[in-house]
Amino acid sequence: MKQYQISFKTEKDSADSFRELRKKTHPGSEDRMLFQIFSESMDRDAADRIAGELEKEFPGVCYVGCSTCGNIIGGDLCPDTYSAVLTEFESPSARIETRQYHMGKENVDRVIQEVSQFANENLWVKVILLYTTVWETSMSSLCSELDNVRSDVSIVGGGAINPELDSSTSFVFSNGEKAADHSIVFAFIGGNDLVVKTRYISGWKPLGKEMEITKADGNILQEIEGSSAFDTYRRYLRIENDENFLFNTLEFPYMIDSHGIEILRHPQQCLKDGSLVMASDVERAGKIRLAYGDPVTIMESVFQNVQEIRKEEPDAIVIFSCAGRKAFWGNSDIGNETVAFQKIAPSSGFYTLSEFLRTGDHVNQHNLTLVIASMKEMIPGRIKTKASGMSEDEHTSRRYSTVERLANFIEEATRELEAANEQLFDMNLKLSNMAVTDGMTSLYNRTEIQRRITECTESEPAGRLSLIMLDLDDFKKINDTFGHKEGDQVICVLADLMKKHISGIRDASAGRWGGEEFMILLPQLTDQEALKIAEGIRRSFEEVAFPQAGHRSVSLGVTQRKEQEDGDSLVQRVDQALYEAKKEGKNRSVLL
Ligand code: GH3
Ligand code: MG
Ligand code: MG
Repeated sequence: MKQYQISFKTEKDSADSFRELRKKTHPGSEDRMLFQIFSESMDRDAADRIAGELEKEFPGVCYVGCSTCGNIIGGDLCPDTYSAVLTEFESPSARIETRQYHMGKENVDRVIQEVSQFANENLWVKVILLYTTVWETSMSSLCSELDNVRSDVSIVGGGAINPELDSSTSFVFSNGEKAADHSIVFAFIGGNDLVVKTRYISGWKPLGKEMEITKADGNILQEIEGSSAFDTYRRYLRIENDENFLFNTLEFPYMIDSHGIEILRHPQQCLKDGSLVMASDVERAGKIRLAYGDPVTIMESVFQNVQEIRKEEPDAIVIFSCAGRKAFWGNSDIGNETVAFQKIAPSSGFYTLSEFLRTGDHVNQHNLTLVIASMKEMIPGRIKTKASGMSEDEHTSRRYSTVERLANFIEEATRELEAANEQLFDMNLKLSNMAVTDGMTSLYNRTEIQRRITECTESEPAGRLSLIMLDLDDFKKINDTFGHKEGDQVICVLADLMKKHISGIRDASAGRWGGEEFMILLPQLTDQEALKIAEGIRRSFEEVAFPQAGHRSVSLGVTQRKEQEDGDSLVQRVDQALYEAKKEGKNRSVLL
């Protein structure tokens, strides 16, 4: 694969440039050529005329193009308005096809269905490059439809834009179709010998704790953790909604998780109510965190990827870089992060509005990211010359920047705080459990069961409600004869039986009323149903044989709440019922 990169200042220069280029290429190999034409000019007619000049020199050649806010040639920002990149494939099996759709006339589902079908039926397709106007902020539907393309096809692309960073007047074009807004162009590239590797590089790193998006609509991020989204910027970073807002938030964009990978989202505007208009949708993210972009860290991240790409020994590198990165670095420095690619292979591309990349099974819409496709042809019998440039062990030792160290400090401190918070939460839970629980039996304590009885009678004035009161028979004797330990054991066994007998009953609760007295609250149950439960407990208890105390018994009072009756009167009656059970000879249940 060979790549030729040219640029020209005005439309008029295009004819001469193409003529010069024609001389360097092989006649008759048009069907193995792909041109990418990038235009910083918004003059669509000029783009069409340039395409016309191209067709004169290279009849029938495939080309794709779009409006940009900067073109990348030789791994650097191109000073000219127009750039043209010719990729000439050498493998006899190389194939290229392009398609362009006007999305005003077509619906996304149908278009992508056609694209998927084409890729699925044509097994030679290895990569789809897409050039699209971003006709709506959230391109999620486009991305999720593209997931249906056969999974071994790489998908990379960029959003057309213009130097005014206005997406509504951007355009794309291709062979056979005029420059048009609201449109999308696909270039299908493949063949037996083509190898394509794709990746995204951001360099921005997560900062601080993960937060919950509590209100969002598409790309409007309204609230984070119940406060306005802007508040996060003001509170943590002292960023104000002033003329520097855009630049400051480029340094500190948000990071969301999309299909398991970290994706950046930066605000384009802050609304009066503190909502943020984000560059792409955030609605389905759920969690969000801040990220920081520090020049040293970003360059380090780019460089690590350069090392990786060098190992792939590509013939050409296609770069889709975000307009936001260009704004972050500034025009004079932006080239620094991409020149290293040119040392590996001819590197070209453009500055985009959103970058698209398939990672794993999903196509994601990125912001502030470099999306890279490295391409090479592995033609049998051909020996490749190794890429020149820096050796692999260069740049291995590095100095961390102050920002990076501070961010690391924040990350660690946040992690420690989150762990401490979790511990505190667990302890609070235990404490609040302890406050309502009787330590010996794990039943509710007197205060809690009393509160529940009162609450039930107050909140459901007309509802059905039954109560059982229990008291162990001749308990003093157990204590006196076998000691308190055996007495405690008897109390615990009765408590466990009570839990077991009410475990399936909705809203039932059991508590320790006093030493060896207990109360069971049964909302929704009639006194007859409560009596059955009381008798069940009594009989089970009777059957237990204690090691020393042998078989013991319990007496139970049962009653049902009368209409409009309060808790005190209900308790009085159940106490009376228990008293009668004792009076009548113990080991029985009395219903009153
Ligand atoms: P009755 O059949 O009439 O209920 O007679 P009784 O002996 O069970 O009399 P009563 O209900 O008044 O017995 C209460 C005794 O329970 C008094 C107290 O020493 C004992 N007790 C209270 N709390 C505990 C405890 O936590 N452990 C032990 N082992 N004994 C307790
Ligand atoms: Mg008692
Ligand atoms: Mg007793």
